[in-house]
Amino acid sequence: MLRVEGLRKSFGGREVLRGIDLAVAPGEVVVIIGPSGCGKSTLLRCLNHLEQPTAGRVWFREELVGSRDEGGRLLPRPEAEVDRQRARIGMVFQRFNLFPHMTALGNVIEAPIRVKGMAREQAEALALRLLGRVGLLDRKDEYPARLSGGQQQRVAIARALAMEPEVMLFDEPTSALDPELADEVLQVMQDLAREGMTMLVVTHEMGFAREVAHRVGVMDAGLVIEQGPPSLIFTTPTQPRTREFLRKVL
Ligand code: ATP
Ligand code: MG
Repeated sequence: MLRVEGLRKSFGGREVLRGIDLAVAPGEVVVIIGPSGCGKSTLLRCLNHLEQPTAGRVWFREELVGSRDEGGRLLPRPEAEVDRQRARIGMVFQRFNLFPHMTALGNVIEAPIRVKGMAREQAEALALRLLGRVGLLDRKDEYPARLSGGQQQRVAIARALAMEPEVMLFDEPTSALDPELADEVLQVMQDLAREGMTMLVVTHEMGFAREVAHRVGVMDAGLVIEQGPPSLIFTTPTQPRTREFLRKVL
């Protein structure tokens, strides 16, 4: 579904991704863990074309867009292609990023109408179904400022789902939330995973990683230093840096 090979990204002279190899199969839930600043957000941003890689290749459904070919030449990155891919990749950020001047319902119907040209009536039916799925049907007419952080984040998930993405990227979706509110959001994510959504999740929620991930990837200083099923990563990691990280967070 999603495949990354030799992905590198520099800012100025500093290389923050140093050759990432990673693949996510259809229906798979991959959780990325690792210390602050190791490049997790940059990796997700490269997958969604919010950043352009310095080197390496990113496939989405066997399509290469805006990365580099075998010879290291930059492939064309036509904006229309980028937009088309982006519409098939849902992303949820740490900050909720809802449109403050739109209600919950307004936030969810916006992209289907504007990007997909969906009829308003149809978009609303879809949005009501999705708001129901994240448990917020009764809050559909509220503005974000009147919703809790957890509710806002669930609206953000519904908004991403409204584009009917083939894969969902989550960047620390609960780290700005109190534990109780985080649990509501994690529950929604777990339901999504159960329904077979392909997911790449950056999180510090080790409980979620243990229970929901098919595979855990450990990042350190711009590299995926090891990956495997949670049952192995959490009990018998092979890398000293993984052990050190887990000692701090578990
Ligand atoms: P955290 O757990 O704190 O969210 P992270 O693993 O997501 O960290 P990134 O946000 O990917 O880390 O950042 C990796 C490194 O790249 C950091 O040192 C950061 O300062 C740097 N960086 C990220 N974005 C930019 C940018 N646009 N310009 C310059 N440096 C950047
Ligand atoms: Mg980050």
